[in-house]
Amino acid sequence: MLRYLTIPVTAFAQNCSLVWDEDSRQAAVIDPGGDLDRLLAEVQRLGLSLEQIWLTHGHIDHAGGAGELARRLSLPIIGPHPADRFWLDGLAQQSMMFGFAPAEPVAPTRWLHDGDTVSVGAHSLNVRHCPGHTPGHVVFHSPQIDRAFVGDVLFAGSIGRTDFPQGDHDTLIASITQRLWPLGDQTVFIPGHGPESSFGRERRSNPYVRGT
Ligand SMILES: [Zn+2]
Ligand SMILES: [Zn+2]
Repeated sequence: MLRYLTIPVTAFAQNCSLVWDEDSRQAAVIDPGGDLDRLLAEVQRLGLSLEQIWLTHGHIDHAGGAGELARRLSLPIIGPHPADRFWLDGLAQQSMMFGFAPAEPVAPTRWLHDGDTVSVGAHSLNVRHCPGHTPGHVVFHSPQIDRAFVGDVLFAGSIGRTDFPQGDHDTLIASITQRLWPLGDQTVFIPGHGPESSFGRERRSNPYVRGT
């Protein structure tokens, strides 16, 4: 079975998730924005072998700790989509702008594209490219456990901001309706901030995408 644990990190309470293969204890971390010592304490407590870093997009609260973590544990960084390269290249400026500790440079080992898969232990997750909040945003979907890690694309009762450079509202709505909804109403999503919800619940009640 695929398991996960979500740990809010940074002053932005960004939902960093550990995902792991219950049998082999091999693990990946999604969006280690910061608070690395806390994350590594959880890795140790759970008896996991952390092998990979997966990134949904290049914002500081999601990617800010990835460079240091990759260096400290010699881990590959997988994702996001190459259209977010300018966000990763600008992490140092993002650190200053938002009062974060200086972020170490992040150079993905592997960029991701729509339709790719990523694997942890015996389990695979599907990658969907969901631009709009940032142009290179990706989400990770596990059909096996009906979960999607959606970063800042969709929140319980809200959607991602689109007022950043290369953000676009219509593109974001299209990502949600054409790339997320087909995964099924029953799919529970882990957003980048705040509580989990399901796609079906958002289709019924989220004022930004209700009835779509
Ligand atoms: Zn973001
Ligand atoms: Zn965020």
